Amino acid sequence: MNRRELAIFRKYLERRGLKLTSERQALFDEVFSKHEHVEADELLVRLRTKHKKISRATIYRTLELLVEAGVVGKLRIGEAGYRYERLHAGDHHDHLICDQCGRVIEFFEPRIEALQDEVAVRHGFVLLSHNHQMRGICKRCRPRSKGSGSFGAEAAGPVPVPISSRPRG
Ligand SMILES: [Zn+2]
Ligand SMILES: [Zn+2]
Repeated sequence: MNRRELAIFRKYLERRGLKLTSERQALFDEVFSKHEHVEADELLVRLRTKHKKISRATIYRTLELLVEAGVVGKLRIGEAGYRYERLHAGDHHDHLICDQCGRVIEFFEPRIEALQDEVAVRHGFVLLSHNHQMRGICKRCRPRSKGSGSFGAEAAGPVPVPISSRPRG
């Protein structure tokens, strides 16, 4: 089932003069064992539990290689962390990410997909992939967030602007 992705990864490594070591294979197997959005340190814990000898540095380096090879997706969570997910060819979705609890909600919206394609065409741009992430506060965290419109004060990046002018219906 993951043979195709493994072949892509192997080819990518070959092109860079790298080998599919047993550590890289073990990490690949762990990431592809289920569909989830997982932190690098969690993968490290799981592999250690399975008595795989793999360093933290190797985990991070290999995850970057998997992302560059296009078989693993990388999501920015909150201000510091990242999470990773396996990707299958032809199986696409985008994400809503909660800034408070780190919850990741997957969605697929044909209208957004179509609009992105239109934008690319308008710019004479050959679209190979896109990574669409929406950050905010999830339903579960909303009652706990203080006041309204005050979040973002501690954010290092650009303050998110609530879309209030959007027509309702
Ligand atoms: Zn939340
Ligand atoms: Zn996902």
